[in-house]
Amino acid sequence: MNIAMIGTGYVGLVSGTCFAEMGNRVVCVDIDENKVDQLKNGQLPIYEPDLEHYFSRNTSEGRLTFTTDLAEGVAHAELIFLALPTPPGEDGSADLSYVLNAAGEIADLIANEDDDRYRLIINKSTVPVGTADRVQNVMEEAGLQAGEQFDVVSNPEFLREGVAVDDFLKPDRVVIGTSSEKAANMMTRLYEPFVRQGNPIVVVDERSAEMIKYAANSILATRISFMNEIANLCEKVGANVDKVRLGISKDHRIGRHFLYAGIGFGGSCFPKDVQALHRTGRQNDYNFKILDSVLKVNDQQRELLAERVIDYFDGDVSGKKVAIWGLSFKPNTDDIREAPSHIIIRALLDAGAEVVGYDPEAIETTRRVFGDAIDYADDMYSALDGADVLVICTEWNAFRRPDLADVRDRLAEPVIFDGRNVFDPKRMAEMGFIYSSIGRPSLP
Ligand code: NAD
Repeated sequence: MNIAMIGTGYVGLVSGTCFAEMGNRVVCVDIDENKVDQLKNGQLPIYEPDLEHYFSRNTSEGRLTFTTDLAEGVAHAELIFLALPTPPGEDGSADLSYVLNAAGEIADLIANEDDDRYRLIINKSTVPVGTADRVQNVMEEAGLQAGEQFDVVSNPEFLREGVAVDDFLKPDRVVIGTSSEKAANMMTRLYEPFVRQGNPIVVVDERSAEMIKYAANSILATRISFMNEIANLCEKVGANVDKVRLGISKDHRIGRHFLYAGIGFGGSCFPKDVQALHRTGRQNDYNFKILDSVLKVNDQQRELLAERVIDYFDGDVSGKKVAIWGLSFKPNTDDIREAPSHIIIRALLDAGAEVVGYDPEAIETTRRVFGDAIDYADDMYSALDGADVLVICTEWNAFRRPDLADVRDRLAEPVIFDGRNVFDPKRMAEMGFIYSSIGRPSLP
């Protein structure tokens, strides 16, 4: 099938590449000229495991191309995907200007064509309920006829950064929101190769599809905030949240995923999507109280380690050097959007500390935010040289089994604040560390 992917970010690039991998011809469009140049030169603008392999194969075999020219993408495609940003607006609701403006431009291009080809406009961005209708209105305002010249489909994306390629190639489910049988058939044909193992393609109406995405992200975020509150209470009553997690996860009604306590959720999705769903409630005279709490708990949790470090130094961190391991919002990505590490760094800098950061992939993305305000280490050990304390913000595998004797020797004081519970408190105490983690008793 001929596909245009409008927006070539984390979602657009992975989706476009994976569609090409199944034999489709995909043109990825982006307004960022640097990004498109990089992609045309065979360089990936993001780090995502396995992406390079599929990207190289499909570009070299000519199924995956890149352009800044929207008209080129639209002329090529029968399926036009929107994988555009939907950042939070000032009031927390999703900013739809990228989606609606692009839809307007696409509509004008289609309206000016000579032929009468049928197109699908497929929304892959995470958008509030009712957006498919708004996109349809934009198309109709350009004189196009729904059902004849186009249909709008909601096709929310569930890939997780860090395992995005695998998620896209083998999704747990595909959600297609449309009231058009013709559109549903085309979308099913497109996705059948991805669900060969029997996972479902769920076809629903547009509004339910839009709500599914917000409900999914919000329930996951709720689990995280819930476990973080359990962890905070564990600390007060002398229980261990890791043991609690193991105990509750054996109950099949609960399951074992998304029960890890830590320093809160970040990334470009959970914070904004929970906020946007909360806002949808408000706009419809409904106060979604749980979501309000989920966000408040998360804000508090993301500040926690900075507060602990400052408390450890009796409120005065001026001149103290803090090493941070892990800058991305989660492992296996270079994405730093809403990363807890960045909130911690900001708080430490504000309090007068010096910060040196290390991350296997997210140093460049972090440098774009903090510039020279912090130092960047070339490797995880040199970050520790002369540091007064180590703070672990992201659970990259490389941090799980370091040479702890080396870590201890390099730190000015053997103090670790672990936001991801990667070490065993007993072993850390035996090795002479002052070790603080989340929701577990600290040993002397
Ligand atoms: P992103 O910021 O990585 O990518 C968006 C891209 O769109 C950028 O490259 C930008 O230059 C480009 N762009 C902006 N305006 C454009 C225009 N008019 N024409 C062409 N390109 C344009 O964003 P993302 O993380 O890929 O997210 C996209 C959407 O998918 C969001 O709604 C997000 O909530 C949703 N989503 C993201 C993830 C994720 O893990 N990142 C997962 C599921 C859903």
